[in-house]
Formats: sequence, structure tokens, C-alpha cells
Amino acid sequence: LTARAPVALYVHFPFCLSVCPYCDFVVVAGRATRGPGNRIAAFVDALEQEIVLRAPLAPTPLASVYFGGGTPSLMSPAQVEQLLTAAERAFGISNGAEITLEANPGPADRGDLAGFRAAGVNRLSIGAQSMVGAELKSLGRRHTPADVGDCVSAARRGGFANISLDLLYDVPGQTTDSWRHSLADALALAPDHLSAYALTLDADHADADVLPISRGAARWRERVRVEQDEDRTAEMYVVADELLGSAGFEWYEISNWARRGFESRHNLAYWTSVAWAAVGPGAHAFDGVLTRRWNAARLDGYLAALTAGRLPPGGVEHLDPATAQAERIVLCLRTAAGVPAGDIPVDALGWGRSYGLVEAVEGHVRLTIKGRLLSNELFARLLPRQMAVA
Ligand code: SF4
Repeated sequence: LTARAPVALYVHFPFCLSVCPYCDFVVVAGRATRGPGNRIAAFVDALEQEIVLRAPLAPTPLASVYFGGGTPSLMSPAQVEQLLTAAERAFGISNGAEITLEANPGPADRGDLAGFRAAGVNRLSIGAQSMVGAELKSLGRRHTPADVGDCVSAARRGGFANISLDLLYDVPGQTTDSWRHSLADALALAPDHLSAYALTLDADHADADVLPISRGAARWRERVRVEQDEDRTAEMYVVADELLGSAGFEWYEISNWARRGFESRHNLAYWTSVAWAAVGPGAHAFDGVLTRRWNAARLDGYLAALTAGRLPPGGVEHLDPATAQAERIVLCLRTAAGVPAGDIPVDALGWGRSYGLVEAVEGHVRLTIKGRLLSNELFARLLPRQMAVA
């Protein structure tokens, strides 16, 4: 099986003004981000170099470029343009491609939104997380609910016609009522897309593609984890689905809802297992067939390699065809489109049906709302034992 040319490019920008205690992304803060010795400009040059080195031999123009982080809105528009120019040269970017940039809502890190738009970004994903001030504080966020509104207004003024908000539920101090309040206030800002994620608090991990968490973050997680409640989390998910549905948003992936036509094309690339490229520390790529590869998380190693003109350190994994097929089914099942009925092993399908987790729609099998809540139970039956979703 031959690797396919990537149709999406993920660009990881790891800098934030400070590190939130629940964050598992590859992120650095402090002097690396702020002050005269900050490393952002050197990093953007390294990213540009990696894009050049990852150029496919026979590229297909990208349908999507996604600047994720970290806080990519800490870049200047000129830096975003520098990277898009490199991507255009190395991969090609199709006309009308979706170009997303994640932004934090606070005035200190939302960046020059009109400048990003002028640089070619056409979709903004704003990390709102909550519309309740006390919850934002308890999450260690720097912004206020009013900042989220200001950020959306600035983005609309700057020319963005496609805005997504991210919200978190099952956060410390949250109740089902305060979650309703967050959803209602977020909807009042008229976004085009909304992602709602349950707060997941992993213990520390020792993989090369993630960074260790601080002791303070570990203590924070221990304290918050005991307050979390599975039943309340499920109730919050159902509330989100109802409120978003009645506001005209369609559910299209377990954690994502959009007004029709505003589904994230970049994320759909992941869920439909097409090939995507990825650059930046900790970034993961997939060749669309059997091979995954990733960069190591450490910024120093990343910068040292690329400054010397070499690809950064990282790892590679070749999947066997049965595992690749199982993963493809699981990813696709996350979406409202589901998978062709014949793709799911009969025993798993029967089990899912007997518990009301899946339903058949026009020859496809897709998750019911109960299935969305208990998807990991079903996925564990589809994946080889050692790969079952945590
Ligand atoms: S702002 Fe986002 S990426 Fe940065 S530390 Fe907080 S959660 Fe992580």
C-alpha cells in the first residue's frame, strides 16, 4: 500500500503566556514566550524549515491548514504569512482551503485578528472554555467571559465569517445550570461552530511526544478529579446537544456541532483517516494508509535539529492492516456520517445494537446519543485489545 499525499497540514505552535493546570498539549511559557529573549521568531523559522523538509515528492494541494497550540495567536500576522507561504511552496494550498488559527480570547494573547485574516486565515477557533468567570479562574485561565465577547466582535470586524468556540464541561465548581449558562452565553455570540469537551485529567505520562506536567498541576488534577462525576458529565453532554440542536447547530462529531456548512474540514480529515502532515514539537502525522509519525516534544531538540537543517527527533509506527482498519472504523464512527454497516464486525455491531448504542441510517451505522456517551465501551470492542481507547 502506497502512502498518500497529505490533504491537511497541522502546524503546532507551543507557546502560551502561562500553562493551565489541566493542559496536556505540548506547551512552553515564561521566558520562552515573553520578554526580549523569547524564542518565538527562532521557532517560526524552524517551523518554516520543517515545512520545507516535509514537502512531499508528489504533493496534492492542501484542503486545510490548522495552526494549533499552544496559542498560535501570539504569532504576528507576518509570521503566519511566512508559514503559509512555505506551505504553499512545499505542498500547494487549494483555492478555498480552510485555514484555521486557534486564538485565546484575552487582550494580551488574542493577537491581531484583522491581520491574521489579511494573512490568509479564514477560520478562527477561540478557546473560550467557559462563560462563567469563577470557572475560568478555577481553570487557571487568564481571560474573562467579557473577553470572549470582545474577541468574537474583533474577529467579525476583522473579516472572519467562520468562528468556532471551544467550551469545557465537568470543570471544577461547575453545575448543570452554570453549564447551561455558558452554552447560552456562547450561543448569544452567534458562533458558526462549537466544540464541547469534557475535562479529562490524565496523570503524568512519560512519552517522548508529550511534556511532563508540573507538581502544581499534578496536585490540582488530583484535587479536581475527586469532584468529577460521570453521571453529571453525561447530563451536561445531553444538555449541550439539546441546546445546540435547538439553536440550529447540527451534531457532526462526538464533541462538535456546527451550523450547516461550517463543519471543521480539518478535523473531518482526521476522523475520515485521510493523510495529513504535521509540523512542530509533539505533532503527529498519518500517511493515510498504515504509518503514523510524530515529533518529540522538547523545544530545544526541535530547534537544534532544524537550525542545523535536519528533521527533528521523533518516532514512527507502522500499523498492521487489521489495526489500521479498526482505527479507521472507530474514528469514522465518531462522526454523524457513521460507517457502512458491512464495515463493523458482526459481534460488535450486535452488542452495540442490543444496548442501544448504534442505529442504522441508510446503510450506515452511527452512534445514538447513548452511544456517544458510552462510545469508549463500543470502541474497546472494535480495537485490538492493547489499543482500546482509555
Ligand atoms: S492556553 Fe490552551 S494550550 Fe495554553 S496552556 Fe492553557 S489550555 Fe494549554
